[in-house]
Amino acid sequence: MTFSLTEAAAADGLAVARRTLELLRGVPEFEGRYASCPAPYTLAELAALPPLAKDDLNTALAHLEPAAEHGATWLFQSGGSTGAPKVGYAPTGFYMAKVFEHWQPLERDDVFVNAWGAGRMWGAHFLAAGLADLSGCRVIALGSVTAEEYPQWLGFLADRKVTAIGGTPSVLRLWFAHARAAGIELPSLRKVLWLGEAWQPQLEDDLAAVAPKARRHGMFGSTETWVVGSNSPDCPADTFHPFPHQLVHVGDDGLLDFTSLDPAMLNPVLRYRTGDAGELDPCPCGRPGPAMRVLGRRDNVVQVRGLGLHVDELLARVEREPGVARAQVLVTERGGRAQGVDVLVLGSLPDPQALRRELLSATFTLSTAFVHDPENVRVRVVDALISNERTGKTAGFVVREES
Ligand SMILES: [Zn+2]
Repeated sequence: MTFSLTEAAAADGLAVARRTLELLRGVPEFEGRYASCPAPYTLAELAALPPLAKDDLNTALAHLEPAAEHGATWLFQSGGSTGAPKVGYAPTGFYMAKVFEHWQPLERDDVFVNAWGAGRMWGAHFLAAGLADLSGCRVIALGSVTAEEYPQWLGFLADRKVTAIGGTPSVLRLWFAHARAAGIELPSLRKVLWLGEAWQPQLEDDLAAVAPKARRHGMFGSTETWVVGSNSPDCPADTFHPFPHQLVHVGDDGLLDFTSLDPAMLNPVLRYRTGDAGELDPCPCGRPGPAMRVLGRRDNVVQVRGLGLHVDELLARVEREPGVARAQVLVTERGGRAQGVDVLVLGSLPDPQALRRELLSATFTLSTAFVHDPENVRVRVVDALISNERTGKTAGFVVREES
């Protein structure tokens, strides 16, 4: 399957794609780019349009400056954990009414902790608030807290008998790790909502200890596309069911692209690529129709001394070690040249040197690039991985310029 919708199901929505194409044709920087493209009346015609990248969308938004039909126009930070800040737009409500039509993880009697960071133009806190609003539940808008505040807040949440919490998996791990460390349990917690990063399997361990009845409910989306799909505890964590107002396409190169079929959409999302690779297949949960399996970012390759280091493969190897909760690759550069590669490890690792030797011999890029100075490849157990303070996310790799 290459599209999430059938020709018939997408037919009406393609009017939105045709309108978006007209808007993009008017962007001066795209001169000629869409000249030979007919307005799409079929999925094949849509697939023939050139895809949009993140920079393209920001170029278009700078020209179009869209405004919401009703209510305020909100500006949010768009851009990955490793990119420069850019801007995406959304109307009040954040398109969550259409999500709620098909997905109701929260119910009226839930006590929901919104732990996505608020402020700094982050969108997730507000779209989760929009979903909670539609469900009519009780909301505790917590946002982000500092390390020393966790025990006190966890005690408060236990007293309030919270039933649901939502955040990025990195933030959720902090919450549950602090709860474990403080011996605090949340026996009433049933639902863990997440968005913004891939699910972290280690969360299952934390949940088993802190909130054994809690199950995960995921959303997939970005500040450009907004929420594209969701899943249930019965779906694999990397598989999402796209909503009918979101058209997902898998290109010949395996990259996913997204087209909004929502007439209220402010961002001109027409074959927009998040950089994620994926496939469309039936979901093991048994729900009919194609589900989107997200295979991770194709851009998770970092150049080290002219060779591509596949970060995800390296991290997957390290995270198979017993005791390792999570790992991160830190590349230190000076004048654009890699000086060293540190594999930062969260958790316990009895013999970092043994793992280092194995990584060096098994990773072609590391053994080749550091053949003369293998001592500059290190494995270090750390107290905390490096997070992007702007986005609140913890990326698989970080590149730092050495002064
Ligand atoms: Zn499913």
